[in-house]
Formats: sequence, structure tokens, C-alpha cells
Amino acid sequence: MLKRLLDSPWTYFSLAGLLLVVLLVSYVEVRTPTRPHGSVSDIRALAQRKDTNVVFVVIDTLRADHLHCYGDPRETSPVMDDLASTGIRFARTVSQSSWTKASMASMWTGTWPGRTGIARWMHSIPPEATMPAELFQQAGFYTVGIWRNGWVAPNFGFQQGFNTYIRPKPLPGPNGFQKRTASAGALVGTDEDLTRAAAEFLAAYGHKRFFLYLHYMDVHQYAYDEVSGKFGTSYADVYDNAIHWVDRNVGAVLHELQDRDLQRKTVIIVSADHGEGFREHGLEGHARTLYREVAEVPLILSLPFELSPGIVVPQTVANVDIWPTILDLFGLPALADADGRSLLPLIEAAARGERVAFDRPAFAEIDRSWARPNVDPDRLIAVTQGPYRATRQLAPGKEQDVEYYDHTQDPWEAKNLALPKNGGTRTLPLELAQSLDGYLNLPPASWGKPREVHLDEMELNQLRALGYEIK
Ligand SMILES: [Zn+2]
Repeated sequence: MLKRLLDSPWTYFSLAGLLLVVLLVSYVEVRTPTRPHGSVSDIRALAQRKDTNVVFVVIDTLRADHLHCYGDPRETSPVMDDLASTGIRFARTVSQSSWTKASMASMWTGTWPGRTGIARWMHSIPPEATMPAELFQQAGFYTVGIWRNGWVAPNFGFQQGFNTYIRPKPLPGPNGFQKRTASAGALVGTDEDLTRAAAEFLAAYGHKRFFLYLHYMDVHQYAYDEVSGKFGTSYADVYDNAIHWVDRNVGAVLHELQDRDLQRKTVIIVSADHGEGFREHGLEGHARTLYREVAEVPLILSLPFELSPGIVVPQTVANVDIWPTILDLFGLPALADADGRSLLPLIEAAARGERVAFDRPAFAEIDRSWARPNVDPDRLIAVTQGPYRATRQLAPGKEQDVEYYDHTQDPWEAKNLALPKNGGTRTLPLELAQSLDGYLNLPPASWGKPREVHLDEMELNQLRALGYEIK
């Protein structure tokens, strides 16, 4: 028996394989420098440091509740879960629109969508607006944006403040790579292109102080490789496969940081521009409604040190709060005219186990005719306030079409409480109606109205490749 084992080449292959695995594992353990441990008192001290960087990850179309760390029993997101458990997780974050461009304009400027006015496909953020990348650039950071969604392209004003702002070169994906919309003209490339470009950037510029924005698209595209294709084949399963694939891409960026011993010098933010509907309210996709499935997104903040345990911030916050918070964390000037607030007081209170009131209403808006230039606006506005979300339509003749939901009784917004029991006019409670009135009375942003850009047929086709019908 022993002789047979010793004579068999498989014995040696197996031993060699085992040795390799042991070596690889110990290599990873030795090579992966962990971040130091820190505590809540180290958070404010970050503003004094001169060696910290920003990695800002946006995962397009990522609804919060499909992440394991947000309660999904499936392990869709081990990398993001780890960032959350050693950092700060905001339990409930409201995005400002269910359409990328409107949402991203509000996120970057920290301003409610009714004030940016960025609502339709030809709108562009004017150069007079101050963008966070400009403030980081002025503070000496090398600023890079890498994106695959044409709605954040330079012609819509999103390049302001970036030294480099690129769509990465598309390469064929890994083995067995698939996407739901495989039609001709679909978005080319994969999110691996973005990860590769990020690695190239870190290799070239990682020694400088940097601000890196990565806008992942494969959750939007329902795209994934063989390894991540494990949750099934239904519409929602494939969405989870794509989350797992993008989570692994985020993990690859973290490894690049760790290999350069940069995670101990980097603040990482993971966020999303909007969620995705799976017919909870009759519609698949996004950019048409403002229900919870398209409105609520993850928000995770990882610091240059590990928190143990991680902090969970329970209050409802909004994407407009992201940059006021990060600028505060870095001790940089605040955004001009922002509606968002620094969340550092909420983080510190959560770390101390204190519950502080934060009853600021969070607004969202979608113009449902955003893709039709010759059609009048069809605005839908929403407020999330306390346990309620209320919506109101603004188009003539639709003003009575109000809805509101009580999340304590009805977390997924099935029962519109504005419907009168015995017929008659739908009504909102006074407080919610007044919040929406107040939102409509807010002045436009101080930098003025959106610019209008002309898009040629090729640019329009690139946007149509995302699956939108643009007239
Ligand atoms: Zn989007």
C-alpha cells in the first residue's frame, strides 16, 4: 500500500498541491497587513492627518436589502459585509432619485433634486456648481474617476474636479461571463475593466495622496462570471449573482490597496445611486417610481483603522449627506449651499450607544418623462420622514394622486393609507403634506439652472445600451 502510494505520481501532485495551498494561505496571512484597531475618538482625529486617501465606490442599481449585511440571508456580499462589520453601516439610506443622473447630481452636490433641477436627459451640472472632487483637488489630492455609466459622462458635468475621468477600455470578460441584455449595442466590457483600471491607477499614483471614484455597472447589467453564478436563474437570482461578482471586484480593489499597505491610509465609501424593482409595485427595473425597492440603498464607511465592533447608525439618512460627512471627516471646506449634513455626530452617538433625534425629512424625485424631450415634465416627489414615506404627483390632473405608507406596519409599501375608506379625495397627513410643500418652495441651487447639452446619435445609442428607451 505504502509502496503503491510512493510510486503513484498522484501522491506527489497531491502533496505539491497541498503545499502550494499552505504556502498561498500563509502568504496571504503574512502579506495582508491589517489596519490598526481604532476607536470612536480616532474618527475626529482623522481631520488632522495628511496621509489619508479616498476610495468612493458607487454600485449602480444596488438596493440595500439584497446585501447580506442588510439582512439578506444569502451571502451575496462578503467583502462589503466585512467592510461594514469593521466600519460604519448606515441602516437606512434614501437615495434622491431612482434615475442615475438625477441621483448622482444630488449625491455629489449634497443638494435635493428639486434644487439641482437635474431631471431630464439633456440636463448637465453647470460649471458654477462646486463638486467634492474640486475641493479634494484643491486640497492637493490627485483625483480620478473611472465609470461605465454614460449618465455620469463628462458632458453631463460630472468630470468637474477630476485630474483624470475615464471610461475604461473594454476587454472580454472572464470565463462564462454573461449578462441579461446580450443584445447588439449593449454596454460593452465588464466591471473587471474598472477594477483593472483602478489597479493601474494605484500602481502609478498610489504613492500620491489620491481620491478615487469607481462607478460599477454590472449589477445594473445583471452581469456575472461562473464563480458568482450560484444563486439561481430567476430575475432576482441573477441580480444577486451580479452583486456577488461586483462584491468580488470591490475585494480585488481592497487587495490592491492592501498590497501597497494603503488600506491603513484610506477611507472607503460604498454607496449606490438607487435600487431596483422586482414587480413589488408592478414594475421591473428603476427610474419610474420612488418606492422603497428603488429608493433605499446601502451606505458603508470603512476607516483607515478597524472598529471592533463596527458601528451601525440607526437613523434614516440620505445620499445628500455623504459628502458633507466625508468633507467633515477630512477637515475640508463644506460644499456650498448643500442640504445634506455631516453624519459624524450620529456616528459618534451610535458608537456611544446613545440615540439622538435626527428627524430631518429625506426627499427624492423622478421626472417620469425624463427620456422624452418634447413631453411635459411628469414629476413625482417623495418624502421619507419618521416611519412614513409619502409621494405626490405634480403633473396637471394628477395632483390628487398621493400615497403614503407606514413602514412600522407595512415595510414594503403595499397599503396606501391615503386612500379613503369610503371613496372621496386621497389625503396626506398634514405634516407630510407640509414637508412636500416645503420641498417645492425651496429655492434653486445657488449655482443656477442646469445646462442643456446636445447629444449626437452615437452618444444617445450609448445611453440606450443601458436599456433605456430615449426618444
Ligand atoms: Zn443608476
